[in-house]
Amino acid sequence: MNYQSTRGADSGVTAARAIVKGLAGDRGLFVPDEIPRLDAGDLAFLSSCNYLDAAKLIFERYLEDFSLAQIDECVEGAYYDTFDSAEVAPLVKLDEDTRVLELWHGPTCAFKDLALQVLPRLTTAAAAISGEQNEIVILVATSGDTGKAALEGFRDVPGTSIVVLYPQDGVSAVQKQQMVTQEGENVRVLAIRGNFDDAQNAVKGIFMDDALAGRLLARKKRLGSANSINWGRLLPQIVYYARTAAQLTAPGAAAAGSAVDFVVPTGNFGNILAAWYAKQMGAPVGRLICASNENDVLTEFLTTGIYDRRRPFHKTLSPSMDILVSSNLERLLYELSGRDSALIRGLMQQLETGGRYEVPDSLKAGIRRDFCAGCCDDAGTQAAIRDAWQRYHYLMDTHTAVAYSVLNALRGREGTKRPTVIASTASPFKFPAGVLCSIAGGDAAAGLSEYRVLDRLSAVTGWPVPDPIAGLEHRAVRHTAVCDAADISAAVEAAIG
Ligand SMILES: *Cc1c(COP(=O)(O)O)cnc(C)c1O
Repeated sequence: MNYQSTRGADSGVTAARAIVKGLAGDRGLFVPDEIPRLDAGDLAFLSSCNYLDAAKLIFERYLEDFSLAQIDECVEGAYYDTFDSAEVAPLVKLDEDTRVLELWHGPTCAFKDLALQVLPRLTTAAAAISGEQNEIVILVATSGDTGKAALEGFRDVPGTSIVVLYPQDGVSAVQKQQMVTQEGENVRVLAIRGNFDDAQNAVKGIFMDDALAGRLLARKKRLGSANSINWGRLLPQIVYYARTAAQLTAPGAAAAGSAVDFVVPTGNFGNILAAWYAKQMGAPVGRLICASNENDVLTEFLTTGIYDRRRPFHKTLSPSMDILVSSNLERLLYELSGRDSALIRGLMQQLETGGRYEVPDSLKAGIRRDFCAGCCDDAGTQAAIRDAWQRYHYLMDTHTAVAYSVLNALRGREGTKRPTVIASTASPFKFPAGVLCSIAGGDAAAGLSEYRVLDRLSAVTGWPVPDPIAGLEHRAVRHTAVCDAADISAAVEAAIG
């Protein structure tokens, strides 16, 4: 099976090439030529196997040019013993109809680990398969979680190196400490005097700089992307949706013979799109509920068919969802339009020049069939954290709480409770101030450093601070480079070496 671009000019690309390239040559996103189907035997297997075997089954269907031995090696390297739960992504029951899929038991305590632990391994295997002779240099601009998860994933992976740029004053103290203490021989971390957009724009500029690409090739290096537009990041996320849906609908399970809804706290639309692929494969997935914070561009789009990024940008308690342009949506539009690349090129052009597009009615119907959407503000987020704590003694982070809030509102409107899984995307200790204030009162974190907030949250709840975050305060700083926004390109080239 090959891959094709959503914009129509790059097709017949092998899985290995699609993963090495990241973005298609016409700036579209790669999708598989056809979506493989799971039969009854596959679903029975997924309902009872362990996480690693589930990952192997799903990967084999999409990575036909990889050998089974290569897939085994990628999966085992990524998930065997790197998560603090043997389940990898444990499912926690709140009540008969409501479960939480905890996607944050990896080395950085956020769901991006599920993909970024395996992407580097897929990248090296893909480089070998496609005859790539050059070292792959991963370049990432981050506003928080992605950078650290990518550093952890790529550290000391042969044939790769990684450079991460972050805004000096634009990430939390814990996030910054996580990055500047990063270990590994092939990692570089650069602070930027500027904001996230400066870092992001610099990275885009570097990717389009043909002269720089030429100089790098002369040194046997090629730039690669760990961004969520890479198919190698989406694929690993399909695994936990297919497996969870199969488990909960197996004979004797909570939703036996039926289907399971998922509610997903959404930013770039990558995580929820993986759930959609699981459903297209034939996994017993019901509705996909897209949950947004005050940045509600997706709520509006999924209910009206109009995407309009011309709106104020809100900084919220769930910063990983503070996004106005959700790049992975392009894949869904492509699939739902019957793979109409001309339509996609037009829509993306309108978004770039006018900041807005509206999709045709047939596409709106496709969206309504699979999706519903809702949003909540910071007050709603905090009320949700309080509610889950009081009702279930379950501590959720601010992103997960957005999903829980949206689910409760939907159930209130509908007056029914369908079996639903909440995708939990971060440990409550990843964004501790918002969580602590929700359960202990508005000023509970006042005057405390982020580290003391962690201690307080642990004391108030009796939940331990996860290992990757505990002890961070005293870890040795290894990366101190800072550069001006104007000098990023030169600094990156120097860092690449
Ligand atoms: C990245 C992230 C999200 C958003 O996921 P998308 O795939 O971009 O929709 C939600 N929550 C947390 C904690 C994240 O790090």
